[in-house]
Amino acid sequence: MEKKGKIIIVSAPSGCGKSTIINAIMERGNINLKFSVSATNRPPRTGEENGVNYHFLTTEQFKQHISNGDFVEYEEVYPGRFYGTLRSEVEERCSRGEIVVLDIDVKGGVNVKKMFGSEALSIFIMPPSVEELRRRLESRATDSPEAIAQRVSKAEFEIGFAPQYDTIVVNDNLNDAIDNTERKIMEFAL
Ligand code: ADP
Ligand code: 5GP
Repeated sequence: MEKKGKIIIVSAPSGCGKSTIINAIMERGNINLKFSVSATNRPPRTGEENGVNYHFLTTEQFKQHISNGDFVEYEEVYPGRFYGTLRSEVEERCSRGEIVVLDIDVKGGVNVKKMFGSEALSIFIMPPSVEELRRRLESRATDSPEAIAQRVSKAEFEIGFAPQYDTIVVNDNLNDAIDNTERKIMEFAL
């Protein structure tokens, strides 16, 4: 019988610590997770690498992938900024029985959970408060003040999706959040 893979969906408002938590779990190495590298037409931030953090595309290239049917899902997460999960990042790996992690926005997260049902675990990372979220985005210092304001104002909308997730992890103390997320993934996938 073909071994089915598992999908771990992780969503949170920008700056809640999603990437930090996912990277920490991957570094610990207790679970063999494969990160699904999304495509986007946003420019890379300092330190981000093409093919590692994202497949950085032009808007034309992104639209070509849409018309080719290459995406499991895609969303215009911010005005003019597209993000999408490529079939090539998910389907082959799942059919090899691997555990694939998707770091995607709330609309994408809810859609993918509907598509994959019990083969997917959806995790919402919650900030301790919206004010703390603003402080983290400011101290990360990777976004302009306008982008930070946009991300904070969107956070409340995104938090409204949390009840649709299988489980919620509050990222107050970082180590606790990493432990809790890792445990939930292990319980689901191993
Ligand atoms: P996301 O991937 O959700 O956009 P990041 O992982 O980049 O968020 O985290 C945003 C910023 O907040 C980073 O500078 C990170 O080091 C910091 N951070 C993450 N978790 C915590 C925490 N529990 N306490 C304090 N700072 C945190
Ligand atoms: P950032 O620009 O901070 O890397 O990401 C912005 C938002 O886009 C985050 O909420 C992130 O989870 C989301 N995102 C990243 N990749 C995808 C994707 O493939 N699909 C969807 N729907 N959202 C994504």
